[in-house]
This record gives sequence, structure tokens and C-alpha cells, in this order.
Amino acid sequence: MTGNKAQLYTRYPTPSILIYNGTTALHFLLGGIGIILGYESPIGYILGSLYLAFSFAEMYVYMPLKVCPNCVYYKLDNSICISGLNIVSRKVAKEGNMKDFPSRAKGFFCSNNLYIASLVIPIIALIPALILNFSLLVLIILLIIVGLLLFRFFVIFPKIACVHCRAQNICPQAQSMGFGKEQEENK
Ligand code: SF4
Repeated sequence: MTGNKAQLYTRYPTPSILIYNGTTALHFLLGGIGIILGYESPIGYILGSLYLAFSFAEMYVYMPLKVCPNCVYYKLDNSICISGLNIVSRKVAKEGNMKDFPSRAKGFFCSNNLYIASLVIPIIALIPALILNFSLLVLIILLIIVGLLLFRFFVIFPKIACVHCRAQNICPQAQSMGFGKEQEENK
């Protein structure tokens, strides 16, 4: 990945945005349904509902309110980022400071950790559910969620999202994958 000279997008192509949000929404929905089915009890409904609320709120409410205002895509004219949330953010939040963008990865409850939690919680929750009460359907849901997570980390981030992102020079996630300064000349 390091040394890649991919084009940086001001407007991500619609298929990329659909893949990103489709993968995200499917991950969260299957996670919530899996937890509800896996525990088959009022507790399961409560935990599954809480997970659904947390994951969708973290991604589609917290991000545009707290993270996107500091992103370059908020400021760029006629831009659409990989999630499309810069459009939402402009409508619901005041412009922030790009210097604060790396703070998305600072602190235990930072946005990056909440994002990772939203992806990993159903995997952690479904393993004991399967041990306590095995179900082929829940196992299939777990395997699909693991597949979606691997697809996100090995295809979406390096080949669809971060590789083309104009925030990669200040984004901790992109830099951890080796994207960043060497692509300045492509801006
Ligand atoms: S580099 Fe990747 S994680 Fe960072 S803002 Fe861009 S798309 Fe999001």
C-alpha cells in the first residue's frame, strides 16, 4: 500500500459510496439481529436493540456532528466523501478546525474506538450466544459479519476508501495503513 499513487477524489463515485454504506448498514443490522436471535430472550432484545441504536448513532449521528466538521471534505466545494456524511454534517454542524481532525483517534472513547467497537461488538457477543445455545442461523450471521469486517479492512479501506481520500495526510487510520505524505503530489 505504501507508495501507491492512486488518484485522490473530491467526489467519490456513487458505487463506492453505496458499497461503503451498504457494508456498514448490513454489518450493523446483522449484528443487531444476530444478538436478538442468539440470546432469544428479553435480554437479547434489549442488547440487540441497544447495539443497533449505538452503532447507527455512532456512525450516522455522532460522526457528522463531531468528526466530519473537522474534515477537509466538509470544506471542499462540491465534495462527497466515502460515506457521504460530509453533506449531512454541513446541514447539522458548524465548520470545525482541520487541526482537530486527528483527535478522532485520541482518548479511550474517541470516535475511532467507538467505530471499531460498533464493528466488533456483535462478533464478541455472538460467540458466547452460540456456545450457550447453538443455532445454525446465528452461526451463518456471525460468519457473514466476520466476512464484512475482513472486506472492510482488506478491500474497502485500502482499495476503495482511504486510498482515494483527501484527508489521508491527517487521518490516523490512513497513516496506519501507509497512506499519506507520499501522495501529496497527487492533490
Ligand atoms: S483516510 Fe479513510 S478513515 Fe480517514 S477520513 Fe479518509 S476514508 Fe475515512
